[in-house]
Amino acid sequence: MSIQIYVDGKYYPKEEAKISVFDHGFLYGDGVFEGIRAYNGRVFKLKEHIDRLYNGARGIMINVPLTKEEMTEVVLETLRRNQLQDAYIRLVISRGAGDLGLDPKKCSKPTVVCIADKIVLYPEELYEKGMEIITAATRRNRPEGVNPQMKSLNYLNNIMAKLEANLAGAPEALLLNNEDYVAECTGDNIFIVKNGVLITPPPYVGILVGITRNAIIEAAERLGIKVEEKVFTRYEVFTADECFLSGTAAEAVPVVKVDGRPIADGKPGPITKQIIKEFKELIKTEGTEIYK
Ligand code: PMP
Repeated sequence: MSIQIYVDGKYYPKEEAKISVFDHGFLYGDGVFEGIRAYNGRVFKLKEHIDRLYNGARGIMINVPLTKEEMTEVVLETLRRNQLQDAYIRLVISRGAGDLGLDPKKCSKPTVVCIADKIVLYPEELYEKGMEIITAATRRNRPEGVNPQMKSLNYLNNIMAKLEANLAGAPEALLLNNEDYVAECTGDNIFIVKNGVLITPPPYVGILVGITRNAIIEAAERLGIKVEEKVFTRYEVFTADECFLSGTAAEAVPVVKVDGRPIADGKPGPITKQIIKEFKELIKTEGTEIYK
């Protein structure tokens, strides 16, 4: 059976779910999106994802034609129609169809799409042995332009870095900001551990403030691990005791080598393992029930 996709108020089989070629999301990357996960019949941090989506829409002055409650229901109903318990959900809001010019005034109604499907993860081996990443020459775009805190449909900055990762045969690439501080990876936030303290870059460095990142900070604090949001450089990653990445799709994944340099002994560290374990517990039990 084909998956059912929500487009502007109706559900269509995958082959029939379509938007206009005049949609400014397609023509200009003019819109925002979310990537959400469901585990075990529950949607993890759904409110946080919906809030981030609506904040992004406000940032670019798109009036979402649904209330947050209605959008929440769209997510749950899409999952129900596809009989999913464990899924990756993609919500997209674009400026909608306009003319060929970039002027947003010409777009009368935003497009809303919700897709729920099974997820393809990194190979299990990467979670056990850890991954090797590289630093991209591409820099994270400045918050004064397209603010990375907004999950906009314009992901070219991240795609440019991902191309570099692909060329290097690495699953992820690290992006620095224009001041040479570590920002994040193409689709994940970064954490390092130094002397027992968990450190992650603050939002103003120019990052998407990950919902997984925030959940990990909370989990670490519950575990009694000291957490600091502070700037650090690539050198501090090279000399860290541990390193891992976080994101909705990746969850929490250890990093054991950066630009050819092993992190400590080149194995996932104890705090990383403890946090991954705690995070796995959290996603099993927390979240909005799909089938009430
Ligand atoms: N940074 C970027 C650039 C991302 O695309 C993502 C994935 N959404 C993240 C970080 C992690 O964010 P989250 O934990 O909310 O998925």
